[in-house]
Amino acid sequence: MSTIDDLPPLREVIATHDLAPQKRLGQNFLFDLNLTAKIARQAKPLDECTVLEVGPGPGGLTRALLSEGAARVVAVEKDPRCVPALDEIAERYPGRLDIRQLDALGLDLSAVADDRPLKIVSNLPYNVGTQLLLDWLAVPAWPPRWESLTLMFQKEVAERIVAAPGTNHYGRLAVLAGWRTKARIAFEVPREAFTPPPKVTSAIVHLTPRPEPAPAPLDALERVTASAFGQRRKMLRQSLKSLGGAALLESVGIDPQRRAETLSIEEFLKLANAI
Ligand code: SAM
Repeated sequence: MSTIDDLPPLREVIATHDLAPQKRLGQNFLFDLNLTAKIARQAKPLDECTVLEVGPGPGGLTRALLSEGAARVVAVEKDPRCVPALDEIAERYPGRLDIRQLDALGLDLSAVADDRPLKIVSNLPYNVGTQLLLDWLAVPAWPPRWESLTLMFQKEVAERIVAAPGTNHYGRLAVLAGWRTKARIAFEVPREAFTPPPKVTSAIVHLTPRPEPAPAPLDALERVTASAFGQRRKMLRQSLKSLGGAALLESVGIDPQRRAETLSIEEFLKLANAI
């Protein structure tokens, strides 16, 4: 069977390099190069860009990013077993694939970026996906170093990222993501697309930074959303008691009897600015 790049099919790559998926590393691999190309295309145009891919594994998405024209891909993979498979891709695309065998948690983006726009495209390991998203969103200076994020999450997490006020999934993640970015679910990915299949459906989320989000202190916003959603069924005068309770809420014109999930993002920003 021919592939998008004349490299061997991914099942063969897994067998050759003995890459039995490991649960502890969140390894659910994608073998369908049409699907990985569809993910890569969400981040287009790629030809003037450097792409950071976290967790390339055997390289299905990496191959799609390169064949869709990414100028350079920096692939950060924790599992040393994947490196020989990725080396074969690097040989097929000389000078365009930079493999870093390290942990992506705590990765400094300036260590991977160059003078091209940076896009982040990843089929993330589920155990660290939310933490990585928070790292990329909760940066002191805005706009961030990256131009877009195109990321795989469990569908439930994807819904929490894009949730609107008044809905069940609305919470800290939606406030932070909605404040600083435009976020949308691009498409769902069924369990069977992965080897091995995870327990739940997945979804690709695409986020682009808002150029000038309303100013608010990040730490105060985190405190206010943690308190409000930590006790989401209680009235805000109760859940925000330690931050000023009813007096704080009235000072910014919010009825203290309301509950966290009814507040708009703008109202959370007002509270963050007031504490
Ligand atoms: N991109 C591949 C694909 O789509 O088939 C693999 C995706 S798999 C869901 C997640 C990958 O992230 C695995 O290859 C795993 O080894 C890697 N990984 C897990 N934790 C990591 C970490 N902290 N830093 C970098 N890579 C990690």
